[in-house]
Amino acid sequence: KKAKLPYVKSIHDFDFSFQPSIDERRVKEVLSGRYIHNGENILLLGPPGVGKTHLAISMAFEALTQGYQALFITANDFIAECQKAEKQGLIQQIIKRYSRPELFIMDEIGYFAFDELSAHTLFQIISRRYEHGAMIITSNKSYIEWGKIFGDEVLATAILDRLIHHSTTINIKGDSYRLREKKKAGIQP
Ligand code: ADP
Ligand code: MG
Repeated sequence: KKAKLPYVKSIHDFDFSFQPSIDERRVKEVLSGRYIHNGENILLLGPPGVGKTHLAISMAFEALTQGYQALFITANDFIAECQKAEKQGLIQQIIKRYSRPELFIMDEIGYFAFDELSAHTLFQIISRRYEHGAMIITSNKSYIEWGKIFGDEVLATAILDRLIHHSTTINIKGDSYRLREKKKAGIQP
């Protein structure tokens, strides 16, 4: 699929009762898609396994269903794409590709550090999208740790400033769904 979703997850498969820190009404409000029309951002934060990617994919899928263009990439794949593009002199094309769609989803910021090139490329994309192109970002790291992820406190602050200005943050505090499934199967985590 053009949006490059890694797989399809529906909001109907999401068990809100397992994750009481998530306000189901706010998620449903996001799914209505108004943030895309308004060029606002959705930030999904929380530890591994709490459903950030599942929710991000559900939101992206809903956006596609409503006829919006969306593009999904993990932070790690983005870093790899930037490194490859630079060798071929194609960084401007990366910036264009991810600035254009009405919705841009970057999943899993925080597991790997951005090098200088990919950090600056992401900053340019976020600057171009600011106040007109919606984004969904997921991260396992709190904002104070973003300086380390981007290797530059000033750049991290500039990125966060633009992301947060018009945004909804969904902060998930709870147990990993993956571990719950292991526990049910009798496997010790
Ligand atoms: P994260 O991105 O926060 O690390 P994921 O979204 O990848 O977590 O969730 C891990 C797995 O558990 C996925 O298969 C996802 O579909 C499932 N999952 C997580 N939370 C829930 C939930 N509340 N209800 C149903 N499935 C869930
Ligand atoms: Mg994830």
